[in-house]
Amino acid sequence: MRTEVLLADEVAVTKAAQVIRAGGLVAFPTETVYGLGADGLNERAARRIFAAKERPSDDPLIVHIAHLQELSQLARSVPELAWDLAKRFWPGPLTLVLERAARVPKVTTGGLETVAVRAPAHTVAQKLIHASGCPIAAPSANRFGRPSPTRAEHVLEDLDGRVEIVLDGGPTLVGLESTVLDMTQNPPMVLRPGGITLEELQAVLGDVRTLEPTDRKAAQRSPGTRSRHYAPRAKLLLTEPGEAEALAQSFLDQGERVGLLLQRRPSLADSRLHVQQMPTDLKSYAQRLFAALRELDAQRVDLIIVESVEERELGRAIMDRLRRAGSLLL
Ligand code: AMP
Ligand code: MG
Repeated sequence: MRTEVLLADEVAVTKAAQVIRAGGLVAFPTETVYGLGADGLNERAARRIFAAKERPSDDPLIVHIAHLQELSQLARSVPELAWDLAKRFWPGPLTLVLERAARVPKVTTGGLETVAVRAPAHTVAQKLIHASGCPIAAPSANRFGRPSPTRAEHVLEDLDGRVEIVLDGGPTLVGLESTVLDMTQNPPMVLRPGGITLEELQAVLGDVRTLEPTDRKAAQRSPGTRSRHYAPRAKLLLTEPGEAEALAQSFLDQGERVGLLLQRRPSLADSRLHVQQMPTDLKSYAQRLFAALRELDAQRVDLIIVESVEERELGRAIMDRLRRAGSLLL
């Protein structure tokens, strides 16, 4: 299959919507990361997403809608609290997990009796869903396990020849995936930290639980939270703040090619050292993270050293992705 990359204007979106309606695959920008979209109510189309990504079939897809009201067509019932959250945070990077309506195929939900839904804030995503006339199931548009794509070029790196159209809408704003919140439990539980912070959710919900990485039973409810995910090809080492350069030096001494994600100017210089200087504010850091990992991979470094960031607000999602991408924690 030939993959067409189109600037995401009206004509392109109309063409992409035809592809979705015909059961095809379209990668498109959302405010979080690029999504790999298909008709979420069409079993065969949804199957193609798993094949293109090489994603295990029990890892459920998030279904994207254009208007809040469409939620009631996908969920068997919508609790009052879910409407409150949707009104407060949609369109935006919050995914709600609810009981599945019968019309949502189990292929889409990875075999689960629940469905994950969100209304994205990106106008291209909204126009595409609207023009397609169906909810669009879309996981991140990367090969399974790789860092999520935040630019159209990243999608091509992973999925060229596996999707009909890539809509290019420039770099994504948030840079990390949505927060996944399980509304079938009381109090609701954050299954994956993301673009809407725990602090923001607490302000609306009061009580909200978080899924601890060590809670294996709970983790089964959200298969995508399994470890080794979002990973560059290079090994990733996560260190305490202030320790990255000394560690980098010891690997350089051993003849390794080293990548460094650093929130300050590096004091080291070496032809085998590749530095991505990261912003100090968490929002810009999140926006840059996946692209920085991909760029270091392109430099063919053997390992990437990253310093921990503070686990508050977006820092929770950043640390979650770094831990999952890391094969070694220091
Ligand atoms: P992705 O769209 O690739 O960022 O991944 C979507 C993630 O959302 C999945 O890997 C799950 O962790 C989570 N998710 C989707 N649907 C459900 C569901 N029905 N129940 C729990 N978690 C879900
Ligand atoms: Mg993903």
